[in-house]
Amino acid sequence: MEKFCQSCGMPLNLHGKDVRGTEADGSKSTKYCSYCYENGAFIEPSITFDEMLVRGKEAISNGQGNKIVKFFMKTFYPMQLKGLERWKK
Ligand SMILES: [Zn+2]
Repeated sequence: MEKFCQSCGMPLNLHGKDVRGTEADGSKSTKYCSYCYENGAFIEPSITFDEMLVRGKEAISNGQGNKIVKFFMKTFYPMQLKGLERWKK
């Protein structure tokens, strides 16, 4: 199983919670989280890389961790996102 969602980069095990999305047959996705992927398809198939970037940064801001950790997460987020399966060209 991939450690991070291959669409948004979020850990698939978020603070001990399984946030994997579902496949069409109801099984858990090994690649994507439940915020990106449901019933075997992307929830927002037309979202762009830049839109995902903005959303991810917001999620980091609203998530756990202190300011310094968040600063570094946001700094490296674009690079992380670029390496994910959904955005690789
Ligand atoms: Zn995701």
